[in-house]
Amino acid sequence: MLRKNDIVDVEIQDLTHEGLGIAKYDGLVFFVENALPGEKIQMRVLKITKKIGFGKVENFLELSPNRNQGLNLAYLRTGIADIGHLAYPQQLMFKAKQVSDALYKIAKLPDFAVLPTLGMDQPYAYRNKAQVPVRRVNGQLETGFFRKNSHELMPISDYLIQDPEIDRLINFTRDLLRHYDLSPYNEIEKTGLIRNVVVRKGHYSGEMMLILVTTRPKLFRIDQVIEKIIAAFPAVVSIIQNINDQTGNAIMGKDYRTLYGKATITDSMLGNQYDISAQSFYQVNTVMAEKLYQTAINFSDLAPDDIVIDAYSGIGTIGQSLAKQVKHVYGVEVIAAAVEDAKKNAKRNGLTNVTYLAAAAETAMTQWSQEGVKPNVLIVDPPRKGLTESFIQASAAMAPEKITYISCNPATMARDIKHYQELGYQLTKVQPVDLFPQTHHVETVALLSKLNTDKHIDVEIKLDELDLTSAESKATYAQIKEYVLEKFGLKVSTLYIAQIKKKCGIELREHYNKSKKQKQIIPQCTPEKEEAIMDALRHFKMI
Ligand code: SAH
Repeated sequence: MLRKNDIVDVEIQDLTHEGLGIAKYDGLVFFVENALPGEKIQMRVLKITKKIGFGKVENFLELSPNRNQGLNLAYLRTGIADIGHLAYPQQLMFKAKQVSDALYKIAKLPDFAVLPTLGMDQPYAYRNKAQVPVRRVNGQLETGFFRKNSHELMPISDYLIQDPEIDRLINFTRDLLRHYDLSPYNEIEKTGLIRNVVVRKGHYSGEMMLILVTTRPKLFRIDQVIEKIIAAFPAVVSIIQNINDQTGNAIMGKDYRTLYGKATITDSMLGNQYDISAQSFYQVNTVMAEKLYQTAINFSDLAPDDIVIDAYSGIGTIGQSLAKQVKHVYGVEVIAAAVEDAKKNAKRNGLTNVTYLAAAAETAMTQWSQEGVKPNVLIVDPPRKGLTESFIQASAAMAPEKITYISCNPATMARDIKHYQELGYQLTKVQPVDLFPQTHHVETVALLSKLNTDKHIDVEIKLDELDLTSAESKATYAQIKEYVLEKFGLKVSTLYIAQIKKKCGIELREHYNKSKKQKQIIPQCTPEKEEAIMDALRHFKMI
């Protein structure tokens, strides 16, 4: 019987979607950090349950030819580069496989030919944005990254995948905070002032924004801090304070105050100019985001008379990149500040054929339908949780010929594709684009085309049956708990199940994970329990 701290020889067989090595031993599946397929290792057992275990590399017996041996392990441990130990060409293959696996397992498309991932020539130093926590470590204020699945700060000065100018500004700010004795946040004691330093840089413009996230409005000696920053970094055109007095993991609070300069920075993409506010979404890898948008535009095969809906439009980057090729673009976005940016951007880019709505995408589809808007092309770019059932229903009812789906989560994308297939659409092309080199994150563009009417009737009949089975297969929290306990010997809380459901894009009732106690850090599901809950969700056909 295997026990904790035993050391055994194993061969790594595969990688999880988060880049952990998978090994089998004694009927158990082990997850091992920093271990690649084909590698033989001596593994120290860290933890075992009935069916799965966690191990650690004690010694390498045989290395993979695909190993990037130069990686500093701090980048693995913080998740900054959680697949950075894999050579870049293999990272691209890993990502295409994530997409085909999701299409196979979730959308039930076993043979779909996913195109090879578009990658970068220089897959480092690409991020135009950084969000780093500020904490005290060994008595000193530090900036860095949390160790994975913890809130233990590992001090870092070179972040590997960020624009080096951003690293320099973070380190300079850290030194000033130390010098002026501004206290770092302590999340256990709920004391201290500075929680996070966030930096954004326009990739082409070079303009920089610095955001100090604080627990309270009052900032001591801030005038001196600002003076020193703008003297050393003339590219800083905006310094913002964000006040976040809440416990929990959200980085930003609701209150933004401009301390210096403008409230936005400007950057350009595919020839247009964009103003970007602190709270607006902007793709972190500009060069690859341009390739992503260009792929979406090419897939959409636009014509001058086309009416396009750009759903989840952010500051308007996708719709405005194609507006000159079509008759009209309708954009919808839920963050009001981003919509304001989008409207200003349209003006600045001389576009008169774009209309924006600040609303939930679902509501906008219904409103536009009632107003008689008839889109030929629907472009969606939702957050990780994907689309909602009501959005899918409402959008399919508008019967666009093409749906171009941009996704940062293959699992929810595959789930939504399955749904669209049931509503008379067929998946025709899938292109992964590497916006996040060295990390396990995958970005994809998929094209769905409307089937002809005959086929549509066929699938509608099938839909009834499918709806029935999916309704029957929705398990309760109690059933999921029972299944996980039975199969894995693990007790999981309703909170953890809710977190994983949310991650998979399954709808939840409101306030599912809001803690009743004030001033409490919300516990996060461990990878081990996550795997077990995912298994249960798959078992109950909920994903
Ligand atoms: N297309 C943009 C933004 C994509 S990110 C770009 O490429 O830059 C996803 C966007 O969806 C975010 O701006 C987020 O604020 C927005 N969003 C999230 N939920 C939404 C909803 N229910 N309705 C509309 N927009 C939503």
